[in-house]
Amino acid sequence: SAAIIDGKQFAADLLGDIRLKVATLKENTGKVPGLAVVLVGSDPASTVYVGSKHRQTTAAGMNSFKYELPAETTQQELMALIDRLNVDPQVHGILVQLPLPAHLDAGAVIQEINPDKDVDGFHVSNAGRLATGSPALVPCTPLGCMMLLKDRLGPDLAGLHAVVVGKSNIVGKPMAQLLLAENCTVTVVHSRTRNTAELCRAADILVVAAGRPGLVRGDWIKPGAAVIDVGINRVEQDGKSRIVGDVAFDEAGHAGAITPVPGGVGPMTIACLLSNTVTAFCRLNNTSAA
Ligand code: NAD
Repeated sequence: SAAIIDGKQFAADLLGDIRLKVATLKENTGKVPGLAVVLVGSDPASTVYVGSKHRQTTAAGMNSFKYELPAETTQQELMALIDRLNVDPQVHGILVQLPLPAHLDAGAVIQEINPDKDVDGFHVSNAGRLATGSPALVPCTPLGCMMLLKDRLGPDLAGLHAVVVGKSNIVGKPMAQLLLAENCTVTVVHSRTRNTAELCRAADILVVAAGRPGLVRGDWIKPGAAVIDVGINRVEQDGKSRIVGDVAFDEAGHAGAITPVPGGVGPMTIACLLSNTVTAFCRLNNTSAA
């Protein structure tokens, strides 16, 4: 049966590496990386995410600056905070927790972030750098997927056929760019694609980020394929609420390897956020942890 890709363990190991790097950077420069997280309003899921980011950032030995703003915060106030964080020498990463309340223009806020501190990698400048092969801050979820793929398949992915299901700016598109940068043959399918199942069946690497529980059936998966399930879907089953992915996991026994949900891609995202913060620190300070 398919090997299980243990993202939880990989993320724990990565956080251990980050902690060591932070200690080395502190010794070499007298400074530690700092991450500023901005939350507007009190969306319950966002509050949990921000709390978890804060805890893991400090556990890694980095500075965490938490900004919890009232739901009525104006665009101007939020932009002014970003402007201050952009020039704050203690801050190397800036993350604005999405979604923002409806009266705020999230796009404008993200484009206001200094691209060199844009640890979510959502700024157009980072999307452009990734697409053109320049040093970029890469969105955390696809970055985590790529780490898991390389850990499983080895560093050379050239010539493999990768199919990405979903074309969002935060997962599907940057995932496709990362795979192209590794010289994979890349197909992107989405909700308007006509022969999705057939295209998926051709994939050596199948990355699924559609937000549709159980979308990918067993017969969509080529025997031996590496399957990365990004989906996080809350479903009701037997009167209980549980989290499932976009792949019908029970039908994927003939895959070569697959990420479980939960415990696959999910835990990688925060670890990659901290990794990006270290990357941003090193570039801003012209140093490395080597
Ligand atoms: P999104 O809604 O922005 O994009 C979904 C994409 O899937 C769209 O491009 C759409 O065209 C495509 N799609 C929808 N239905 C489809 C179908 N039937 N066939 C083919 N393609 C289809 O979502 P997103 O932000 O990219 O997130 C996708 C999923 O990944 C969600 O379940 C989300 O919760 C999860 N997610 C997980 C993490 C993490 O693990 N940390 C991070 C981000 C997103």
